[in-house]
Amino acid sequence: MRKSFILSGLLALAFAAQAQKTKADLLLFNARIYTADSAFSTASALAVTEGRIVAVGASNDLLARFDPKKKVNAQGRSVYPGFIDAHAHFVNYGFSLQRVDVTGTRSWSGVLQRVQTFVKKQGLAKGAWILGRGWDQNDWTKKEFPDRAQLDALYPDNPVLLTRVDGHAAIANAAALKAAGIDGPRELMGGTVEIRDGRPTGILIDNAVDLVGDKIPVPSRRQALSALLAAERNCFAVGLTSIDDCGLDYEVVQFIDSLQKRKELKMRIYAMLSDAPRNFEWALRYGPYATDRLSVRAFKVYADGALGSRGATLLQPYSDKPGWSGFLLSRPEHFDSVAHVLYQNNWQMCTHAIGDSGNRTVLKIYGKYLQGKNDRRWRIEHAQVVAPEDFALFGRYGIVPSVQPTHATSDMYWAADRLGADRVKGAYAYRQLLEQNGWMPLGTDFPVEDISPFKTFYAAVARKDSKGFPAGGYHPENALTRRQALWGMTLWAAKSNFEEGVKGSLELGKWADFIILDRDLMTVEEKQILSTRVLETYVAGSVVFRRQ
Ligand SMILES: [Zn+2]
Repeated sequence: MRKSFILSGLLALAFAAQAQKTKADLLLFNARIYTADSAFSTASALAVTEGRIVAVGASNDLLARFDPKKKVNAQGRSVYPGFIDAHAHFVNYGFSLQRVDVTGTRSWSGVLQRVQTFVKKQGLAKGAWILGRGWDQNDWTKKEFPDRAQLDALYPDNPVLLTRVDGHAAIANAAALKAAGIDGPRELMGGTVEIRDGRPTGILIDNAVDLVGDKIPVPSRRQALSALLAAERNCFAVGLTSIDDCGLDYEVVQFIDSLQKRKELKMRIYAMLSDAPRNFEWALRYGPYATDRLSVRAFKVYADGALGSRGATLLQPYSDKPGWSGFLLSRPEHFDSVAHVLYQNNWQMCTHAIGDSGNRTVLKIYGKYLQGKNDRRWRIEHAQVVAPEDFALFGRYGIVPSVQPTHATSDMYWAADRLGADRVKGAYAYRQLLEQNGWMPLGTDFPVEDISPFKTFYAAVARKDSKGFPAGGYHPENALTRRQALWGMTLWAAKSNFEEGVKGSLELGKWADFIILDRDLMTVEEKQILSTRVLETYVAGSVVFRRQ
């Protein structure tokens, strides 16, 4: 009698303990979790309910407190917040996967070969466009722009447009030029149609690229969906769970929104609208827009072009092209009026500026509206070449430099040719830029660069490219620490999007967007960083990628 009384008492206690356990959807334990919170704290377990983190702590503690539907044993592996790419072109990248990839070619004939192989494989309908991207004459033995003669001969009836790696120059064949009505010299604000012996060579710079680009037929819904899904697959596989798409039309943003709402697209997107009147009309009418996966409250504006194609605007002429200083893509009054409208309506302004003159123009116009310290988080995208006396303006007005560490290691081979030994010291000066506000988002600008966040991390801390060059790092005084690099790809990137309350670190109440890696980015030998592999990627507590 007495014995069974004790037994049932124990059973009751056990049931009570079970009942006291809190239900959860997921419990990740036995992990080395870098939360990337502002104290850079670590933990070994986290619990997730309805996509959000409900506890972060020690494995024993959380296993005792929670009764999860699913348990994930990380087996001691490192866990980080999902990476956020603060500057990329997600939609373009998706479409680029459907185009000829001519990156890494060593000559113009190498480019032509890639195009021919692609056309052979895909087949070519009558009059169909052939689109490609990624050539860079700086990588060729003959470092000059090509001309269209061979493209004309190969494809007399198909328009061809092959964009340079930076997207700021392209080569078009005769059929493409004809489609755009270009048959001779053209007066153009912020762009050049290259002319030799009175006829276009096919080379188009900056705004001239759009003359042909605008004639490319609009892709079908199916084509667009498959582009975005391919982009998403690749991004999840490298641990990206959130992307800033820098410059979209509102219809594309609506398309993304509809895909996300139907759960077809799971990637989180911070969409910057392109600087076009219809996008402003839409934005001012419907106001900032946000869902769990999408935020629209920023505009992307272009001040100048790129350094590689000498479109970036410099205070003094290019060191390798006397008398030439590049150009602004619009008049300063345009940037001023955009700043005025965005300031009045409390939208974020994000302006592409590469040259020291482009940066100065934007810093001054921003400063005119921002006046002093503020929390508008207006961004300068790239902030690539900054005059020594202008660095302080970032701090004075709380302007956010949004930089891409792989640009430094891609451009280092020729940047000093363009800029000279002195001016190059203020180029890709990430440490100096970081010091201005104490935080700074990092990105890649893919598809200009590879999508890999590990390349970004490595370039930021080692200042070397994927060949490990140069041995001592490129201007190593501008390297970031590993902590700074990780924050730049997580918490600070979220902050540059006003999203640090919901993502960017693994803290209570935030989205359970996290990744499990095969090594510890914080402690692994520098040369091992690049071969890091993502084992699993989670968005809102659901697995979206698992390495087979
Ligand atoms: Zn970009």
